[in-house]
Amino acid sequence: MKKLVSFLILILTVTITSFAAKPIRILVVTGGHGYKTEEFNQMLASLGPAITYQVAELPGAYDMFLPGNRDKYDVLVFYHMWQTITYEQAMAFAECISGGKPVVALHHSICAYDDWPEYWNIIGGKYFHKPTTFKGKEYQPCSYIHDLHFNVKVVDPKNPVTKGMKDFEVFDETYKGYYVEDGVTQLLTTDEPSSTPVIGWTKKYGKSKIVVLQSGHDAPTFENPDFRKLLKQAIEWVNKAK
Ligand SMILES: [Zn+2]
Repeated sequence: MKKLVSFLILILTVTITSFAAKPIRILVVTGGHGYKTEEFNQMLASLGPAITYQVAELPGAYDMFLPGNRDKYDVLVFYHMWQTITYEQAMAFAECISGGKPVVALHHSICAYDDWPEYWNIIGGKYFHKPTTFKGKEYQPCSYIHDLHFNVKVVDPKNPVTKGMKDFEVFDETYKGYYVEDGVTQLLTTDEPSSTPVIGWTKKYGKSKIVVLQSGHDAPTFENPDFRKLLKQAIEWVNKAK
C-alpha cells in the first residue's frame, strides 16, 4: 500500500511538472526617461512566477534585437523614450518584431523616436514633440498633464487583455493630441478632457501582436491592481501565437 501511494505521488508530481507552463520571459526596454525603478520592479515582480523579467537599457539594449539574442526572451515590454537609432539598429528592431517578437508598449514609449516613423507604425501611435506631417495629416506638438484622477473605460470586457475587468480610476499623467493608427482594436478610453480619448489598443505588426497602454507614469499606477491585471493579461495575450 505504501509503495502504491508513493508511486501515485510520483506520477502526480511528474504530471504536474510536465503541465506547468514555462514562464513567459519579458525583456523590459528602458532608457531616455527616468522612472521609479524600485516601484516599477515591484510591479513586475507582482505579475507572479509565470512571468519573469530582465531590464535592458538603450542604447546597449539594441543588441537584444539582433537575431542571435532573440531567443533570450519571449515578449518585449517598452518603457523607454529613446530617440536616436542608426539604420542598422532600426532594421534589426523592426525585423525582430515583424518576425514574431510581440510587444507591450507602456506610457512614454509612445513618445520615443521623433524621427523614425516605422516605430510609429510598429506601435500604432505617436506623441509628437514638434509639428509633424504623417500619412498626409498635420499634427501639432502634443501636451501632457501630471497627477490627475480620471476614469478609464473598458471597451470590451470580453477582450482577452481586459477580460474580467470593469471601468476603473487611475491617478496618472494624460497625453493629448497623439496619433492613433486607424483600425486598431480599442481596449481603453477616457472622457478626461486633457487626454486623447483612446488610451489603450491592440494591433498586429507583421507576425506580432502589439498592445499599447498610455498609462504608467508613476508609482500610483504601478501599484494600481487594475493596471497590474491589465499588464499581466496584455503580456499573456501577446505571447500567445494566435
Ligand atoms: Zn510620464
